Amino acid sequence: MQHPTVTPQALGRLVELQTDGRPVLSLYMSLDPTLAPHIADRRSELDSLLLDAIAQARDSGELGTEREIKRVGRLFVDERLAVDGARGLAIFACETGHFLEALALPEGVAPAAYLDERPVLGPLVGMARSERWCALLVSSRATRMFVGDREELAEVEDLLDDVHRRHSQGGWSQARYKRGIEKEIDEHIRHTCGLLFERYRRTPFDHLVVGCPLELRPRLERDLHPELRARLVGHFEIDVERATAEQTYGRVLPLIEEYESARERSVLESLREGIAPDGHASVGLDETLQALDEERVSVLLIAHGFTAAGFSCPRCGHLAASGGRCPIDGSPMRAHQNVVERAIERAVARSIEVLVVRANVEELRRAGSIAALLRY
Ligand SMILES: [Zn+2]
Repeated sequence: MQHPTVTPQALGRLVELQTDGRPVLSLYMSLDPTLAPHIADRRSELDSLLLDAIAQARDSGELGTEREIKRVGRLFVDERLAVDGARGLAIFACETGHFLEALALPEGVAPAAYLDERPVLGPLVGMARSERWCALLVSSRATRMFVGDREELAEVEDLLDDVHRRHSQGGWSQARYKRGIEKEIDEHIRHTCGLLFERYRRTPFDHLVVGCPLELRPRLERDLHPELRARLVGHFEIDVERATAEQTYGRVLPLIEEYESARERSVLESLREGIAPDGHASVGLDETLQALDEERVSVLLIAHGFTAAGFSCPRCGHLAASGGRCPIDGSPMRAHQNVVERAIERAVARSIEVLVVRANVEELRRAGSIAALLRY
């Protein structure tokens, strides 16, 4: 069974969920095939998470919630647990409006059940990448295009300019034949670059990687439209005519990961610059929650796995690391086991980029595990 994947839109649906004060159940399941290869294993993983959630509901004396949790158990029949290709599954349910959303996760998660006033988004937020990738495969006579995201690439066009076949029909001398082929290859590459730019204008993508023999690379880069050249982030070699979508993805993924890690390093570099006096950055929980409150955040950085206790004002939403009364309206602040969740939710609702730092996590930990680049 197919479930929707984690996208900024899916996060938006969860952020906007109206609960009318009813608790929200958030379940995270690992679908790691080495740990839980059979549906029966998934079934028992889900059952034990549901039991955990029921225990939490009983502790808080929420009888309606217990009914709701049992409803999820009944709805998630085996068929719904047979998710292809996903590494994890997240399930969100709330009694209000019989809300139920299941998302297939591209990365593994630690199994966990939460019963909270809002959906728990922390484990998801780093997976919601909306960037579009294009992989262009070019040989001296063939062109193929794959587009998608870091989870999946699909082939969109298949053009075979059979240069050699056309030429071998003429009775040319060896030298003329060779010059003719070079000219044809140049034309083929120009044609390819033109087609790519046309397609890009209809359906834009964020980044381009090119799979071609090394000797074609300079010609291709020369003929790419400047707008596309600016999006080119990597090159790989592959059997252009025979590679499957899976093999292509296998070559592209390391380039995507390299790009993401470089992006992390560059945001962390901006953070280092921003920490200077009069710089535009906040570090640590206190400063960053305040910056979020003041609507000054442009990028929110969170160290992978970071959680921290904190407070929010039930009346105006003010977020703070310490409790007491809200400085804005004097209401008693409400305690949260993990206020980072509230910060993520606020950022998603405001379309602020949330960067979960993984590759360079130690550097962010030294800066308090949470930080932000600020607009001013
Ligand atoms: Zn307040």
